[in-house]
Amino acid sequence: MANDPMEWIRDDLKNARGYSVLHAPEGTIKLDAMENPFGLPDSVRKRLAEGMSELSLNRYPDAQAKDLRDAASEVFGVPSGRLFFGNGSDEILLNLFLATKGTIVTPEPTFSMYRIIAKSVERKFRGFPLNPDYSFDPEVLLTVLSGEKPGILVLASPNNPTGVAYAMEKMLQAAKIARQFGFVTLLDEAYYPFHGETSLNAPGAEDVLVLRTFSKMGLAGLRLGFLVAPEELVSLLDVLRLPYNMDSMTQRAAVILLKEVYPLLEKQVQEIRRLREELYSGMASIGGISPVASRANFILFRVTGISPSDLFLKLFHKGVLVRDVSDHHPLLEGTLRVTVGTEEENRIFLNALREGVAR
Ligand SMILES: *Cc1c(COP(=O)(O)O)cnc(C)c1O
Repeated sequence: MANDPMEWIRDDLKNARGYSVLHAPEGTIKLDAMENPFGLPDSVRKRLAEGMSELSLNRYPDAQAKDLRDAASEVFGVPSGRLFFGNGSDEILLNLFLATKGTIVTPEPTFSMYRIIAKSVERKFRGFPLNPDYSFDPEVLLTVLSGEKPGILVLASPNNPTGVAYAMEKMLQAAKIARQFGFVTLLDEAYYPFHGETSLNAPGAEDVLVLRTFSKMGLAGLRLGFLVAPEELVSLLDVLRLPYNMDSMTQRAAVILLKEVYPLLEKQVQEIRRLREELYSGMASIGGISPVASRANFILFRVTGISPSDLFLKLFHKGVLVRDVSDHHPLLEGTLRVTVGTEEENRIFLNALREGVAR
């Protein structure tokens, strides 16, 4: 007699943890999720509202997202047939992991969704440690990959939560080693705007898959990411993709933003890069705080003299929400991650931090 009332649920799910997101109370300075702090000006909001009002929501969306495809192709300089869109780049990872076999391999610490999504589709996942300074040696792949069934090597650069970017030649070398073992390489360029170096169209990266998102540069609420891949792979992924994964509102908003607002977002990104350097200096000047130089829109920092969870709570009680990543990986012990905010938000954070570590 089976008397587990949830016999039909996968056993591995019963003890699994999903991606946790903390609810931020009203008025909190939210520096936990790599969001652009600036928002869109009124003129753009109005333009978006107009665009929305013209839609026929009784009709299904354009399943091929043609207008969006054409606009993105133009802005990013990639043939439209090589673009695969997703409801956030997370959804693209899901489709990609569903469509492929073999092991998902990635250096850790890194973006936790690689592991979570791999597990959710019952794929073998193999994380191997980065160097203690969060840099990466492609040569270790010779050992790591040799025991694994050919699958996907995932590299995030700049990496989350470290903020470290790997040199292009290292990533190309990694892709080359992966190729020798029958693996494909996925370069996750979620933080590309804040770094400025891309493997898109780079010589030696022709067969590399490049993942991008609109989230971190300022459109996290839109849920839109894209993959640049060989056309044959895009067609195969289309088999698995749910037919209307890109809704009409997202498609229309993205076209307007790409055609009319992209330069403004790029300006905001420039400002965030400037604020990042200012924030880094501010943090480095506080005793007990060691920030890691970042090429993204956030900064990982190690604390001494106080536990990361105590510091997290002290900051939280002062109205600043950061992310405590100290228990995500042994190499992250003692660390928290803060997203670059506005000038004012960063000032408040730095003050709270200074008071938080003071004895
Ligand atoms: C935030 C993030 C993503 C996911 O972005 P969405 O498009 O919002 O799903 C992907 N990769 C990395 C490394 C990230 O940090």
